[in-house]
Amino acid sequence: MKSKYEEFYFENDKNYPASVYWDLYDENHQEAIEKYEGHMFCPLCNLAPLTVAKGNERRYFKVIESDMDKHDDACSYRLEKASKRETKTFYKDLNDTDMKNRLVCCMNKMLKSTNKLGDVESSGANSKGRHKKDFFNITTEGNKKKYLPHKSLYSGTFDDEIDNTKIYYGKCALYLYKYIPSGEMGVKVYYLKILNLDSRKLICDLSISTNVYNYLNDVLDVIPTEKEDAQIFYLCFAGEMKKSKYSYNCKLRDSRLIVIEEEM
Ligand SMILES: [Zn+2]
Repeated sequence: MKSKYEEFYFENDKNYPASVYWDLYDENHQEAIEKYEGHMFCPLCNLAPLTVAKGNERRYFKVIESDMDKHDDACSYRLEKASKRETKTFYKDLNDTDMKNRLVCCMNKMLKSTNKLGDVESSGANSKGRHKKDFFNITTEGNKKKYLPHKSLYSGTFDDEIDNTKIYYGKCALYLYKYIPSGEMGVKVYYLKILNLDSRKLICDLSISTNVYNYLNDVLDVIPTEKEDAQIFYLCFAGEMKKSKYSYNCKLRDSRLIVIEEEM
């Protein structure tokens, strides 16, 4: 299956969610095409050009076959996405430092990286550049290299392959809601409320048990507890998103599956 890209690297700038393109496109086709087309690249290696598929049902970005060779040698999008079973196997035999490194690299590359033209030139168009690009890659049972499912928190929909574990990432406004059942003294569950940076609308909840919280209290204790105080953080976590009545919810099952960093 061909990779469909839900975000793009805008030339000499940074990564944007696909909605940035489509919002402008719906307002003014010509303006969107002139501004972006020919200037959008693979969000991971920034080298392979993206082509826009404008279907009635599905709108997405792709890399056409003849452009596949333009991906960086280490870019995950040269590979196939790991299947649900392969992904499950990977998360079953979790290695602490390996997972942490992947999430930190994901944060640096997908959320913080601003790749100005100068950086690309000085590192050479085909070199490894400043950031690692293979942090999604895994080796599966059959010794095949594939990449782990992942998704930007700004991709607009979580419904595709919702029952698969994915790495989610985004620069978001966060606050921590402590659920204390009435009549009880202690916190039962913590809900990390993940809000859209601009609209402050809820993207999803991350529920954290008191047990997992204890491993993370140094990072979670600094997060405000009221919505109006929500602060901006870089966030990467892995989990299975579930659709609940009012929003999406993901249960953090292990403290090693999250990295949070305050925006400085
Ligand atoms: Zn690439």
